[in-house]
Amino acid sequence: MLYKEQEIKIYNSLSGSKEIFKPINEGHVGMYVCGPTVYSNVHLGNVRTFMSFDMIFRYFKHLGYKVRYVRNITDAGHLENDADEGEDRIAKKARLEQIEPMEVVQMYTVDFHNTLNTFNFLPPSIEPTATGHIIEQIEIIKTILEKGLAYEVNGSVYFDVIKYNETNQYGKLSGRNIEDLIHNTRALDGQSDKKNPQDFALWKKAEPQHIMRWPSPWSDGFPGWHLECTAMSTKYLGENFDIHGGGMDLKFPHHECEIAQSEACYGPTPVNYWMHANMLIMNGKKMAKSTGNYILPNEIFTGENKNISKAFNPSVARFFMLQAHYRSILDFTNAGLLASEKGFNKLMEAMATLDKISVSEKTSGMDVQDWRANCYKAMNDDFNSPILIAELFGAVKFINQIKDQKASISEDDYKVLKTTLHDFIFDVLGLVDEDASGESTDKLSDAVEVLIKLRNEARANKDFALSDKIRDELASKGIQLKDGKDGTSFSTN
Ligand code: AMP
Ligand code: ZN
Repeated sequence: MLYKEQEIKIYNSLSGSKEIFKPINEGHVGMYVCGPTVYSNVHLGNVRTFMSFDMIFRYFKHLGYKVRYVRNITDAGHLENDADEGEDRIAKKARLEQIEPMEVVQMYTVDFHNTLNTFNFLPPSIEPTATGHIIEQIEIIKTILEKGLAYEVNGSVYFDVIKYNETNQYGKLSGRNIEDLIHNTRALDGQSDKKNPQDFALWKKAEPQHIMRWPSPWSDGFPGWHLECTAMSTKYLGENFDIHGGGMDLKFPHHECEIAQSEACYGPTPVNYWMHANMLIMNGKKMAKSTGNYILPNEIFTGENKNISKAFNPSVARFFMLQAHYRSILDFTNAGLLASEKGFNKLMEAMATLDKISVSEKTSGMDVQDWRANCYKAMNDDFNSPILIAELFGAVKFINQIKDQKASISEDDYKVLKTTLHDFIFDVLGLVDEDASGESTDKLSDAVEVLIKLRNEARANKDFALSDKIRDELASKGIQLKDGKDGTSFSTN
């Protein structure tokens, strides 16, 4: 197994330093990433965060780890305001569109999956929903109440941050201390049931007009936003698991509250490595739906957005995003995308050239084993995809030199070079050679045309057993033949 040879270092947001990754169970990785709140289309900023973790998931898998990757869908409990105020985002959308909340959830979950498929994401191992885990969330609230770290007021239950902080350290992930929080949190307006403004909701009693509600020992209501992640991560990964990830903006209050809930319920160290992906910005500001400063994935593929001059294919956009380290801010610009397109095409051209070059007795011009080691070194250093990509371009230069007979490669080195490039470009970075896949579609078409011709000949010879066999066997492979007045056509599913 490759993972036995490769030592990964991960920047742990909790310690603020890079640490050697030691999984809880050898050869296994448990990773939880906060998923989207499905009340609108995901924008490219959301995609960037999920893409960072897709790349990380892919690298672990490439090394031979058995990974359980859990990424949730938030379909209830996320209010407009992070401080437990405002309407539920999904319920609000449902009210505005005059549809059921679950129609909103369905529509945007499908959109999310389609978008991620277009960018060639791997599906997570488990994709649980908040509404599917209400019972688990109620059980956690009961435990926290029993431990005396939460209190009930008028059918709602709040986490007692001050009490928790007497024995634990609230704020340790985001680097805040309780005094600052008390000082900086807006005073309660007299309407609130909370004892202190920094307390957060575990359960909220539903107002009469609130339709997303469930029975509980305290009231008909709904869980607080932070609770679902504690419930689903521990249910599928255990009370102590390897990696928890999300966007940088989730550190506080979301992840801070998750830590408090888990520690209150199960004791210290729920998560060994906290990972946070940095933001995509545009025109100097964070990409966000709320400010209108965003671009939708579809607008990139059609070119229909004032911030870009043309359409770009998904792999170019993917390449653009992976050219920045996941912990760096990335500025979305047209010039950046144009440059990435050039780079991506150069990489794909080199892959095509590689298929055509001939091997020599000896290698000259690049030490292939050293180069391979450097590719792993880059990824082992906190998943440094930009350094990896720089190494890939080192190989591009070498391939072009071989083509121009300014360098040479032995048969053994050729195999290593080819495998390593394939592994990193397609498996780890998840890029797709769009031209090559077009070429294979053409080839498929040609092959099916040959079979259609043979089937027609069989029919002309009244050999219906053969003609039916050709049709049925193609159908079993997902290729449907359709006989029409202009001849036979086919479709794939
Ligand atoms: P939400 O659906 O709002 O909970 O967001 C889903 C994910 O996208 C979270 O992990 C956010 O941190 C992340 N996110 C939101 N805006 C951006 C952005 N501009 N750049 C990168 N990630 C973002
Ligand atoms: Zn979460």
